[in-house]
Amino acid sequence: MAFVIAEPCIGTKDTACVDACPVDCIHPKKNIKYDDARPGFDEVPHLYIDPVECIDCGACVPVCKANKKDCIEPYTGE
Ligand code: SF4
Ligand code: SF4
Repeated sequence: MAFVIAEPCIGTKDTACVDACPVDCIHPKKNIKYDDARPGFDEVPHLYIDPVECIDCGACVPVCKANKKDCIEPYTGE
């Protein structure tokens, strides 16, 4: 079960969670052009977690909450 980033991140994209992630699986990265045609940082409304790379450590959740946001939650398959 991976974690997902939900709507409250829209318009925020402060990348606080990116800095907390030990496996660097929160995308898109700033200033990176992806080889596989994935959209870049400026093209997405909010960040997303790669479910394959995510190790479910939960480190990003309190960081987002501390930011007065609460947009990272366990993926429930819905
Ligand atoms: S749960 Fe852990 S591995 Fe997954 S995105 Fe958050 S910090 Fe990264
Ligand atoms: S910490 Fe929360 S609000 Fe900030 S970029 Fe990450 S998911 Fe979005």
